[in-house]
Amino acid sequence: MSERGTLAGAGAARDPLLSVQDLQKHFPVTKGLLKRQVGAVKAVDGISFDVFKGETFGLVGESGCGKTTTGRLITRLVEPTGGKIVFEGHDITHMPQGRMRPLRRDVQMIFQDPYSSLNPRHTVGAIVGAPFRIQGIKTEQGTKKAVQEILEMVGLNPEHYNRYPHEFSGGQRQRIGIARTLALKPKLIIADEPVSALDVSIQAQVVNLLEDLQNELDLTYVVIAHDLSVVRHISDRVAVMYLGKIVELADRKSLYEAPMHPYTNALLSAVPIPDVKRRKERDRIRLLGDAPSPLNPPPACRFHTRCWKAQEVCSKVEPPLLALASGHQVACHFPENAPAGGAATGAEPADGNGTQGEAAPGEGATTSS
Ligand code: SF4
Repeated sequence: MSERGTLAGAGAARDPLLSVQDLQKHFPVTKGLLKRQVGAVKAVDGISFDVFKGETFGLVGESGCGKTTTGRLITRLVEPTGGKIVFEGHDITHMPQGRMRPLRRDVQMIFQDPYSSLNPRHTVGAIVGAPFRIQGIKTEQGTKKAVQEILEMVGLNPEHYNRYPHEFSGGQRQRIGIARTLALKPKLIIADEPVSALDVSIQAQVVNLLEDLQNELDLTYVVIAHDLSVVRHISDRVAVMYLGKIVELADRKSLYEAPMHPYTNALLSAVPIPDVKRRKERDRIRLLGDAPSPLNPPPACRFHTRCWKAQEVCSKVEPPLLALASGHQVACHFPENAPAGGAATGAEPADGNGTQGEAAPGEGATTSS
């Protein structure tokens, strides 16, 4: 895997391809025969971000942080509770499924598990050709030829058109899944843990394939992963989620070299380093306990029950997601690696695309402007 060059000026003075604004998904919890609602799992609780054409936007966090639900909301596989999803300037948040059909060509999803996401009774030709049939598209050269071209593009033998998924290795099956998403020439691909079910040796091949396809086909990716090293290699910008909220968002270099949120620091400290000397020198931050339940998240800063920097204010006042002059956004009263003069320098609420609460004047390092 080779590290990507930073997408120069990602987002500067450009209209986003995708804009997610204060997006929420609360799953109701019901009880009894009458299914009385007794609570809600706040899987996604007011997140905002933009994704620009040609970039790779990484979304990371522990299991249960809401990243997969976010991907499913964007593709409208689940309906949002609140907020807005805008794709190419069109509000698709509540667009009827009939009107969504053409859009489904443009937004595709790569699923995590190449074993269960392919129908074992269908041939590769039928699986990769399904989007053509569903959308009623006739290709000039015929579906078989079109499918074989796509198979070749993802590094599979076009002669294997009539084979079944069980005849392929895990990496090859993920290539079949990728081929299926490419059939309709999408503009945006949501890749949900695209390599986590694969052997480490195969992961690099699939990541490289995704990068090659992006360059060749001018694709835009949202890559959802728990593995920060994978996201580091493939992403231009990265958002870190914790219990349904974005706690930090920055370009890849800033996030990995100068993380500001204690949670991001903890995640990065757990990334394996091959160099034994450097590994010994590094301080590993071990988080206390498991993440709290999104059914009953802690008040104010949701991370305060596990944060070694927590102070009284953290359990009383929710830190807003503030954007520094550099564009680095962080939601923490006492951020690390804050620029000289305090993180408050040039900080503004990441509004329209990021306010997660009211600033508390005088409270903590990021709250005054
Ligand atoms: Fe930790 Fe407080 Fe920052 Fe939350 S606001 S991450 S508890 S220091």
